[in-house]
Amino acid sequence: MKNFLSLSEIQSEISAGKLTVYTLTEHYLKNIHEKNGRLNAFLSVYEDEVLEQAHLIDQKIQDQTAGKLAGMIVGIKDVFAYKNHRLECASTILENFESQFTATCIQKLVDADAIIIGHQNCDEFAMGSSNENSAYGVCRNPIDESRVPGGSSGGSAAAVAADLCQVSIGSDTGGSVRQPAAFCGVIGLKPTYSRISRYGLAAYASSFDTVGIISKSIEDAAIMLEVMSGEDQYDSTVSRLEVPNFCDFKSDKRYKIAYVNEILDYDGLDEEIRKQTFDLVGELQNEGHRIEAVSIDKLDYILPTYYVLTAAEASSNLSRYDGVRFGKREESQDLEEMYKSSRSKGFGDEVKRRIMAGTFVLSASYYDAYYTKAQKVRKLIQNATQELLDQYDFIISPITPSPAFKIGDLASDPLKMYMEDLYTVQANVVGIPAISIPIGNNSQGLPIGIQLMSNSFNELELLDISNQIITFKDQNR
Ligand code: GLN
Repeated sequence: MKNFLSLSEIQSEISAGKLTVYTLTEHYLKNIHEKNGRLNAFLSVYEDEVLEQAHLIDQKIQDQTAGKLAGMIVGIKDVFAYKNHRLECASTILENFESQFTATCIQKLVDADAIIIGHQNCDEFAMGSSNENSAYGVCRNPIDESRVPGGSSGGSAAAVAADLCQVSIGSDTGGSVRQPAAFCGVIGLKPTYSRISRYGLAAYASSFDTVGIISKSIEDAAIMLEVMSGEDQYDSTVSRLEVPNFCDFKSDKRYKIAYVNEILDYDGLDEEIRKQTFDLVGELQNEGHRIEAVSIDKLDYILPTYYVLTAAEASSNLSRYDGVRFGKREESQDLEEMYKSSRSKGFGDEVKRRIMAGTFVLSASYYDAYYTKAQKVRKLIQNATQELLDQYDFIISPITPSPAFKIGDLASDPLKMYMEDLYTVQANVVGIPAISIPIGNNSQGLPIGIQLMSNSFNELELLDISNQIITFKDQNR
């Protein structure tokens, strides 16, 4: 069976009688059987139940009562609650934990007749940039299996790239949907903060966390965004703004786009990525868009601000995993010992590092020096970014300083690993939407991605410009 670019291709084959949801589901299950042993992208696959669901959806299609996602086969990152299915956040501390309810965003997909085929590998509690921090083993990049797929939604990106599912739902707190999408050559969309409900998403850093989409086409990203967005009585942080018709994203509008000098001048930026970014800038100009170079002087502070604040929020959010209420418990005679040993044995090194750093920056003696200061810097970064977005429709940049790296290369150096997030965290620090789209390969055949950021709640134009870029890149190929 062919590798479908979008749901609309699938649905037209279904209407033409060439395909059923059942055979499509079997196709993905077969791909998972063949490839997942090596890739380790899926941690659980819900084989029997998805075939049953496929059968029911085929029936609905015949009766003309099917929802708009009929034929969409979705993988979800192991941080989303899906009733009576695993929710382990790729952590030992949640071993064998099962959700008692379904996340709102996942429920909306199911209600529109999408099929949830399984839970996907990721970095433990979504902390990491390579998927190497998973308690269930590393996930491999399908483009080059000696390399990481990126993280933290590594399994989600690898699964879409290897055609183990049509789209994936990941979470993006600092780049976790965009960076793995770039490493695997697919699309990663992080919507505006508050666009999609986070009810049922295991919290990492609540003032940064967003639900994101990994897909092969802008069309699929748009329809998934449209279905998942909007108010939720279970999450008071969701925006009440009306959800636009995201599927109507196509236009031939010419935009004003900025690129940041300091980002493209950065010493650590891979030469081929720099060149392809500048080539794209030229192509956008040829297409009639206005592109200008700008400066941001706060750039050096974005990454430290992100890591101080997310560690602080993580240390608070993760205090709930105490061995009593969820997951794994290390029995002990003494209550305090039980907490200590459950948490010591249950969490991996990176998660412990963040909890310790977060507890430190929130401690009475250091609170003002780190946490309060980082909050102030966050505001300055928000203002500086907003000033730029008042003048330009988009900010364009590379998504990562390097292409997918080898498994093990950065694993022993947390600071080098954090540098991976240099370009992605700004959108989360500010709360604006951002997208990662593949623009080509480097000389080793590894995918290169580009990032576009826009004003809050302007996903529609973000989808439009991304589609314009993908279309003219395809034509020039
Ligand atoms: N790599 C970043 C981190 O480790 C981003 C993670 C994310 O977006 N969940 O914090």
